[in-house]
Amino acid sequence: MTDDRLLLEASATDLMSEAAERRDHTFGTRITYSPKVFIPLTMLCRDSCGYCTFAQPPARLASPYLTPEQVLAIARHGARTGCHEALFTLGEAPEERYSVAGDWLKLNGYDSTTHYLHEMARLVLDETGLLPHANAGAISRDELALLRSVSPSQGMMVETLRDDLPCHRGAPDKTPERRLATLEWAGELSIPFTTGVLIGIGENRTDRLAALRAITESHLRHGHIQEVIVQNFLPKPGTAMRDEPPCDTNEFLWTIAAARLILPNEIHLQAPPNLSDDFASLIAAGIDDWGGVSPVTADHVNPERPWPALDRLRQVTEAAGHTLAPRLTVHPEHALNPGRWIDPGLHFAVLDRSDAEGLGRDDPGAIWPERATAADVVHDGAEVVLIGHRSTAWYSGATEEPATLIPGVGTRADGPVQRVIDRVRAGEAADHDDLVTLFSARGPEVVAVAELADQLRYEAVGDTVTWVHNRNINYTNVCTFKCRFCGFSKGPMSLNLRGTPYLLTLDDIAERAREAEALGATEVTLQGGIHPDFDGDYYIDVTRAVREAAPSLHIHGFTALEVTEGARRLGEDLVTYLGRLRDAGLSSLPGTAAEILDDPIREILCPDKITTDQWLDCHAAAHEVGLHSNITMMFGAVEHPDSWARHIVRTRDLARVTGGFTEFVGLPFVHMASPIYLQRRSRRGPTFRETLLVHAVARIAYRGVIDNIQLSWVKIGASAARQLLRAGCNDLGGTLMDENISRAAGASHGQAMDLSAFSDLVAPLGRRLTQRTTSYGRVDGSTPKSVSGLESVATA
Ligand code: SF4
Repeated sequence: MTDDRLLLEASATDLMSEAAERRDHTFGTRITYSPKVFIPLTMLCRDSCGYCTFAQPPARLASPYLTPEQVLAIARHGARTGCHEALFTLGEAPEERYSVAGDWLKLNGYDSTTHYLHEMARLVLDETGLLPHANAGAISRDELALLRSVSPSQGMMVETLRDDLPCHRGAPDKTPERRLATLEWAGELSIPFTTGVLIGIGENRTDRLAALRAITESHLRHGHIQEVIVQNFLPKPGTAMRDEPPCDTNEFLWTIAAARLILPNEIHLQAPPNLSDDFASLIAAGIDDWGGVSPVTADHVNPERPWPALDRLRQVTEAAGHTLAPRLTVHPEHALNPGRWIDPGLHFAVLDRSDAEGLGRDDPGAIWPERATAADVVHDGAEVVLIGHRSTAWYSGATEEPATLIPGVGTRADGPVQRVIDRVRAGEAADHDDLVTLFSARGPEVVAVAELADQLRYEAVGDTVTWVHNRNINYTNVCTFKCRFCGFSKGPMSLNLRGTPYLLTLDDIAERAREAEALGATEVTLQGGIHPDFDGDYYIDVTRAVREAAPSLHIHGFTALEVTEGARRLGEDLVTYLGRLRDAGLSSLPGTAAEILDDPIREILCPDKITTDQWLDCHAAAHEVGLHSNITMMFGAVEHPDSWARHIVRTRDLARVTGGFTEFVGLPFVHMASPIYLQRRSRRGPTFRETLLVHAVARIAYRGVIDNIQLSWVKIGASAARQLLRAGCNDLGGTLMDENISRAAGASHGQAMDLSAFSDLVAPLGRRLTQRTTSYGRVDGSTPKSVSGLESVATA
């Protein structure tokens, strides 16, 4: 229903179910909020609005403006408690009304309130990483442009287009012309913009529709309105409107629902939870956003109405069948298109707090701007030293404990995620779109996805948790390729110049293999850089050296890149070359070099590496000659869930044809020493929720095709590993003596595990721990189910 006449005549109840349906269709179950601190830069204002308690006369304030120290103290407190946003709120141009404001600015070297705001937003951004949101009122085009360089989004309430309301009689900035001009300039300047209407200040339904229509028209011209706030008037003591009745609840709900039906679907709709006693009704009316909620500061505009605690907000949201997700000050629709919407100087600041969907990272804890410097003493693993505040949020590679997601409370959130789960339970295979939907799970949905994955794990492999005793031999860190994520390679073309280039001799390699065998290892994993001097025979020589030195070891070696390069340098086709490697003693191929099998993402991460098709061709050829292999996926750098789904679907298609993959291995991107992160062009790896979901969704996606889902303890640590074992994983991978590649990217979970460490990890789960061969046979030599067709060739 979008016809004004019908809307005007409808009751709130008439509109609410249609509005909620429209919201669910666009945003699913998700309701967002912005964890923020509120920085009241100045409470002086040249306007006097009849409902406002924020603006104060100079006599009531100790200082006309917060000092930089006060601003930073608030922001640091917010950063420590896990906020993403610094909401700067302030009166409009106070220096034009109060000489004390102008004098303060002049004394401190600022031209205007906007100039001071710009400087403080920059300070907060640089020192804390919190993303500023400037709420500076009806400012000029030039002022909007200035603030765009420090504030990824800005806001100004239209409030109403009525120019005759008594509450605005003393407010020269509240004319419709000034409000609409600011809205329009923001659009012309490509500023993601928040606006809204104030309900119950003397306007009527027709006026509200007119304001919402004007906002819509401006958005249709520019696409810049990210959210519309529908706010209810509440009378406050000490204001001109103190004796007016509060906004009628029905009118409030009617306006929210009408807004949802009028506004383009992509505009988020917000109502503040602290201004309604029954805020669940706001969900029923069609909102999808709670706005800023602060764990630290009061709502300075409505100080008598504290924000609900986050736990309560989550409970109410989930009880209504929705899920709660933190967002950034800029919504994903704009954050994911930074070239158009965000000042280049802010791209990394936004990326650094983003998850894979462009929402706020949701691991609890502080995310401080990270500054790293190379360590003085390094050898074959780069090491970085972090300077400044240490983040306390979980990252792959860092030592912080993750939040407990699993086991969790799996209340049913009826929405797209649950519908996919129901279909998979009924026996359907999840397609690309289903996988993307599963990756969007939040809160109870994450638990539901994990429970399904856990059940499928049990059906496929039972309760046994497996591990393999192996040793990594990274024979060289010299590489001619320029993978932008790689902190390991040290070649002349490398983007990362730390560390010492090395190349092991064949004798060194043989000796390490001999040692591994003597220590009881069943596998060596051979991987290294692509040395400019290697031809294809090098890999064959290495294989022979290892086979001769340690006849019992399974040689798991050479990525699709190494194999493809080796064959190319010899002018051989893949099948012939792989056949020769097999005859020399190679037993299987690792899936590494896959990164993300989605070519536009490979263009960013590893532009000169093999393409998706080449990776798949190499593994198909390996399977053809009887070498099995695995699928790895590195995730959390620059890509989005759509790419994860592509990777899984492409590899699943090949697995269905050849049956040659033994396992899927999730490799969370470790950012700390990775060149692409140090160049400020990637995220900080996946969040823990994303890490858990990638493994759980892999289990669901590969059902009936690949039985084993392996986690990478070296990247996530024991506590996270334990949760992943309850979310579809059944394998701990290798003991990894001498693991260097993750460590080179900054991972700090050590270089080796042993049986007792694995036992400690698995014991609390009550599952059986069993050593396996590379091909998932038992170490006593029995044949695994999943790769039986290949086992005659790939022995170990
Ligand atoms: S990932 Fe491999 S191919 Fe790429 S730069 Fe590093 S060592 Fe070389």
